Amino acid sequence: MAIRPIVRYGDPVLHAPARPVDAIDEAVRALLRDMVETMYAAPGVGLAAPQVGVPLRVIVIDTSVGAEPGQLIQLVNPELLEREGEQRHEEGCLSVPGFGGTPVRPARVVVRGLDPEGKERVYTGTELLARAFCHEIDHIDGLLFVDRLTPLKRDLMKRKLRKRAREGWEE
Ligand SMILES: [Zn+2]
Repeated sequence: MAIRPIVRYGDPVLHAPARPVDAIDEAVRALLRDMVETMYAAPGVGLAAPQVGVPLRVIVIDTSVGAEPGQLIQLVNPELLEREGEQRHEEGCLSVPGFGGTPVRPARVVVRGLDPEGKERVYTGTELLARAFCHEIDHIDGLLFVDRLTPLKRDLMKRKLRKRAREGWEE
């Protein structure tokens, strides 16, 4: 297992839709293992493959950040099957460090995807889990939370983010 570098806002891999995985082979399982380790090390509650520079539809989520066994979700080719209601809560992103925003998210979602063994899994998420599913599935569609803000807030934040991307993200 290895911690992979997290790419930051402005890297083209974050701003384009990712490709579906054709077959869950050892390379995909290694990617999943590395993503889990990278998410826990960050620490974060979710990570999508484009955030480690891999343009594939692969996500990992653990709303307990590894504190509670059985909370880890690893999904290949996840799809949003249902969404209902609304919630608003501040979100951040490991690829947009130092920034936060409050996009409108569904209160409840149903998500289907494949686990590391290729078995179909269906999850229902509310509260933080619903937000995490939407945030990570947005990533594999090339969208960041910034893209979900109201036009005024989005434009203001994008100006600041472009400046940060130009000047370099290194702290
Ligand atoms: Zn993110």
